[in-house]
Amino acid sequence: MKPIEDIKPLLETPKKVVITMHQKPDADAMGSSLAMYHYLRQKGHEITVISPTNFPDFLKWMPGADLVVDFESSQDKAMSALEAVDLLFCLDFNALYRTKALAPYLEQLKSIRILIDHHLEPQPGFDYGVSDTAASSTAQLVYETLYKLGEEQYITDEIAQCIYAGAMTDTGSFRFASTSARVHRMVADLLDRGLKHELIHQAIYDNFLENRLRFIGHSLLHRMEVFYEYNTAMMAIPYTDLKRFDLQTGDTEGLVNFLLSIQGIKMAALIIDRREEVKLSFRSKGNFDVNTFARKYFEGGGHFNAAGGRSTDGLERTVQRFIKAMEENEDLLQ
Ligand code: 5GP
Ligand code: MN
Repeated sequence: MKPIEDIKPLLETPKKVVITMHQKPDADAMGSSLAMYHYLRQKGHEITVISPTNFPDFLKWMPGADLVVDFESSQDKAMSALEAVDLLFCLDFNALYRTKALAPYLEQLKSIRILIDHHLEPQPGFDYGVSDTAASSTAQLVYETLYKLGEEQYITDEIAQCIYAGAMTDTGSFRFASTSARVHRMVADLLDRGLKHELIHQAIYDNFLENRLRFIGHSLLHRMEVFYEYNTAMMAIPYTDLKRFDLQTGDTEGLVNFLLSIQGIKMAALIIDRREEVKLSFRSKGNFDVNTFARKYFEGGGHFNAAGGRSTDGLERTVQRFIKAMEENEDLLQ
């Protein structure tokens, strides 16, 4: 993979560009993609941003979110963009399967592939890119890419908002170990450029409906289990809860972090029956590596302290498998 700054000559003439991200995009996937969109648009390219699936309502304020094509509901529009694409940007994911139903189409493309990502162990096959697992967020890498290209004068307020949103959420509002001085330097630069950061916090964290809070209360009361001898807390959410509380995409985001706030807990697992599959989210504090854990037991991956996986065994069996995996890791969890 050639370094990302080597794309500069490619951007000198108008190109047909597709920017895509992982399924059920979070603020980092969406923010980094839209930041890249706003930059490339100023450079005169023709761009389609494709999300493999729908995305949470709390991201709809992002400048450009209304232009994002949802592959599941607008397949024709996405396909016609893909048919003509010169440059494919893959943002905030390390393996094509993370784009779900879009993956087989991406695999066939003959276009130039560009990766900007911070997940561990990216799959091969990208022509240009940056894969930096020390980066707080993909949004930070987009920001740094603009500097590497010598194009930082294109950082508009729209771009600053998108980048800040991605870095803020992926660092747990600037508290995780990934929140390096590098992150704060970037944020200082964005503030110098006039960014209004408090509006972004409000748009993302103070914008839910009552049902989500009631669901969180119900889950903490009835669905949480703590295994003190393994320093692990788990929450298993049946599909019926998702229906009962009328949860929408994104409503379970952040729930896993509550588990990690219990004294002494090193690993937290949120296991959700999404019916088509069971989705697992893992978080850890300190030296327990949930990336390895998710890879080994649940066909997943991610980062050292935040990872995810999936299972097709149904909720009950998946929970049993999780408990067994936790027991196997007893030593590492001490
Ligand atoms: P979350 O638990 O918030 O869905 O994901 C936590 C982190 O793990 C994110 O960086 C996400 O991209 C990654 N992740 C989540 N699910 C999977 C998965 O199934 N496979 C891989 N490789 N990474 C995942
Ligand atoms: Mn990310």
